[in-house]
Amino acid sequence: MSRIVQKYGGTSVGDIERIKRVAERIKAVREEGHELVIVVSARSGVTNELLARARAIHEHPSERELDMLLATGEQETIALTAIALHALAVPAVSYTGAQAGIFTDKVHTKAKIKTINARPIERDLKAGKVVIVAGFQGINEDGQITTLGRGGSDLTAIALAAAVQADKCEIYTDVDGVYTADPRVVKDARKLDEISYDEMLELASSGSKVMQSRSVEFAKKYNVVFEVRSSFNHNPGTIVKEEVAYMEQVVVRGVAVDKDQTKVIVSNIPDKPGSAAKVFRALADASVIVDMIVQNVGRHGIANLTFTVPQSDTARAVKALEPVLDEIGGGQVAVHERIAKLSVVGVGMKTHSGVAATLFQALADVGINIDLISTSEIKISVVVDLDRADEAVRAAHAVFGLDKV
Ligand code: ADP
Ligand code: ASP
Ligand code: MG
Repeated sequence: MSRIVQKYGGTSVGDIERIKRVAERIKAVREEGHELVIVVSARSGVTNELLARARAIHEHPSERELDMLLATGEQETIALTAIALHALAVPAVSYTGAQAGIFTDKVHTKAKIKTINARPIERDLKAGKVVIVAGFQGINEDGQITTLGRGGSDLTAIALAAAVQADKCEIYTDVDGVYTADPRVVKDARKLDEISYDEMLELASSGSKVMQSRSVEFAKKYNVVFEVRSSFNHNPGTIVKEEVAYMEQVVVRGVAVDKDQTKVIVSNIPDKPGSAAKVFRALADASVIVDMIVQNVGRHGIANLTFTVPQSDTARAVKALEPVLDEIGGGQVAVHERIAKLSVVGVGMKTHSGVAATLFQALADVGINIDLISTSEIKISVVVDLDRADEAVRAAHAVFGLDKV
């Protein structure tokens, strides 16, 4: 007998028929004698719909109330999944995040899990029940409902797997696993048999929404090996685990694109010590997440700073910069929204050279201009025109032979 945590994403529990099918899968695994903790998301589209309703009433809804509202999406599916299991004569009980003992910090809409009190779950598992837990939510020390950031059901599953010391953690979604690129964009993308935590983390934080990046961070920290696989078939998925030596033989494991970025240019600022510090301090104080940064210094003591921020942070960034420009003695702010960030990721980059040159040539060959560039040990990112982003992904995918086995 083993203990398994399974997470079913929004599409997998998207309607009543699908919830019934998930219940049948759970029943079959339970009949093999395993203990099961099931995490479910809200039905696909529900979280977005709830957000849209709140924003139709108020431009900036209170974050506490947003958490209260968004948490209801998962509360619906846990109860329906439990009822579907009861209909199959499988004992099951549903838990909200709070009932499952998931304690978080106080940061509404993107709370971090601090601890999990797994005693209630352990008790029900011992009693032979399937435990169904609402993904994406927890409770803070003041007893307030919190949510864990978009895609946060992945984090619930990984954290529960660590807390109940599960033998297996399976993330069920609507594709067969982690692919070399988004299979909806690149038709000949291939499913990977395995990928390292670091590569998965870089892909996730560069726009591959198949896993929430914070959940991968958590998995790496607590060494939770997990499998991403489809809830619509029984094909083996992708194992995500600690890097092993042979993984470095592959130079590029995958390609990701992030279309949710804005480029901000702060131009004509005085080129003197402290200018950049003041600009980025103001952005940090406004909780703006800054990604790629490039500075060019001109000839007349004038500098330009260019960087990218998430689209949702753009207005806050511009507002935060206004007083700083006065303080440092000049400058203008311009915003470019029609950009995308393309990233190629692979632990093999640590030991292979020429990766950047190959990527840049592939983009040049299809006439795509590169705007910003940034690199890390296992990733190269470039900013390109939004309208050509998918084409850029396909060119990068092909040049590194990712379409070939
Ligand atoms: P869930 O609702 O199950 O959490 P998501 O929609 O969050 O599912 O994530 C699955 C989606 O991620 C897929 O439908 C796919 O389009 C997208 N995706 C993006 N990049 C990749 C990739 N490299 N491999 C697999 N899927 C990817
Ligand atoms: N329902 C939440 C979202 O859409 C959490 C999740 O699906 O993982 O972001
Ligand atoms: Mg998801």
